[in-house]
Amino acid sequence: MAIPRIVIVGGGAGGLALATRLGRTLGKKKRAEVVLLDRDTTHVWKPLLHELATGVLNSSMDEVDFRGHSSAHHYRYQHGSLNGLDRQRKVIHLAPLLDDDNNEVLPARELTYDYLVLALGSVSNDFGTKGVADHCHFIDSPEQAKAFQRDMINTFLRYTDPELRQHKELTIGIVGGGATGVELSAELLDASRLLNAYGVTATDHQTISVHLIEAAPRILPGLSERISETVQQELEKMGVAVHVGTTIQEAQQYQLVTGDGEVIETDLNVWAAGIKAPPFLAELDLTTNQKNQVNVHQTLQSVDDPHIFAMGDCASCPQGEGSTVPPRAQAAHQQAKLLAKNLVELLDNKPLKDFVYRDHGSLVSLARYDAVGSLMRSSASRGLFLEGWLARRAYASLYRMHQLSIHGAPKTGLAWLVDKLNRYLKPRMKLH
Ligand SMILES: Cc1cc2nc3c(=O)[nH]c(=O)nc-3n(C[C@H](O)[C@H](O)[C@H](O)COP(=O)(O)OP(=O)(O)OC[C@H]3O[C@@H](n4cnc5c(N)ncnc54)[C@H](O)[C@@H]3O)c2cc1C
Repeated sequence: MAIPRIVIVGGGAGGLALATRLGRTLGKKKRAEVVLLDRDTTHVWKPLLHELATGVLNSSMDEVDFRGHSSAHHYRYQHGSLNGLDRQRKVIHLAPLLDDDNNEVLPARELTYDYLVLALGSVSNDFGTKGVADHCHFIDSPEQAKAFQRDMINTFLRYTDPELRQHKELTIGIVGGGATGVELSAELLDASRLLNAYGVTATDHQTISVHLIEAAPRILPGLSERISETVQQELEKMGVAVHVGTTIQEAQQYQLVTGDGEVIETDLNVWAAGIKAPPFLAELDLTTNQKNQVNVHQTLQSVDDPHIFAMGDCASCPQGEGSTVPPRAQAAHQQAKLLAKNLVELLDNKPLKDFVYRDHGSLVSLARYDAVGSLMRSSASRGLFLEGWLARRAYASLYRMHQLSIHGAPKTGLAWLVDKLNRYLKPRMKLH
């Protein structure tokens, strides 16, 4: 008798954790065929992308090869990009697979499923702002992060020649004062210091200028005022120019224009203001919200189809009065845990459990300078405020926990050891 096929689309923070758990349970016992589809061949944990963008993280050390991982964890990996859905036939459509030169490797294909899990993540939301698509970098995928890093190094190199300098100081504008923008600002200052130490910057031109621009009255609007104030003070001490209550109405090649018509001269722009689910989701035969997120019940089942689930950033899951689960790695991780149980319950014809999000707190990393945040939050308490060494250790442990969920304890321990050794063996940043 054929066993059911569970297809997970997207091997990110949520999807890869889910495939690993289901592989270890249903896949290993041959109770279900677990298939993970991703447009990339490797996984990089998304909260590390700002480090990849500045070169502080060398992706080859931290990326997980889907093929190797799948064979060790009893699921099957398929390389491809979802671009359509036929719910009546329980089939998904995959776009043609192209190589780096845009030659077709595989034609458009179909893949059947018994249960489908959408875990496609999100992309930056430019809210249709003029010039952003052409003149801003986005840091939504490893490819985009690497493209920014190449551009950044080249800009630094150009500044070694006074004739080629656009402005007095190399200036980077970051739009969006959420965690991504804040962490990127601090990483950029650290990166410029390292680039100077490695001789990439001109000796008379050691610093960069970073403008962080946020439309809300304070940065990190989703976190407590205390965290937001502390982080702003730290950033300003480092030399970041923080603009709050400032919208951007247009991006141009070497400048950002604010809602008041003020011009901020820049060499590079990054757009990190808000997220939305990939736009093609709104064209599938599923109910979505204004951010293209698939509307799901608390069981994570689509409101239209009990055989289709959505999780992580691409899902809109109700949570309490009028609110939904926030787009966070910890939410995707918790949903993967619940869904791994619910899919087993489904095969056993048992009722499914509802997802309840537990906010364990938030930590914001300011590169090697500092980290700030709160832990052990609950509905009754605002959690324990952390800063400095302890917060930096707690922040690093978040990635270790992700590694633990996809590799298990022995491999995570080895990865930690290799990271420590590489601090002595390799340069502290990727320089090409
Ligand atoms: C710079 C940065 C820092 C962050 N820091 C934090 C933090 O400190 N704490 C926190 O909780 N959250 C943080 N986040 C948010 C967090 O990364 C996301 O909420 C989380 O990764 C969402 O997980 P996901 O599984 O939904 O999607 P993702 O992890 O984004 O994974 C989506 C996967 O889907 C694949 N995919 C996309 N489209 C297709 C397609 N059409 N076909 C096939 N595959 C596809 C992608 O290749 C990817 O592997 C940060 C985000 C960024 C960008």
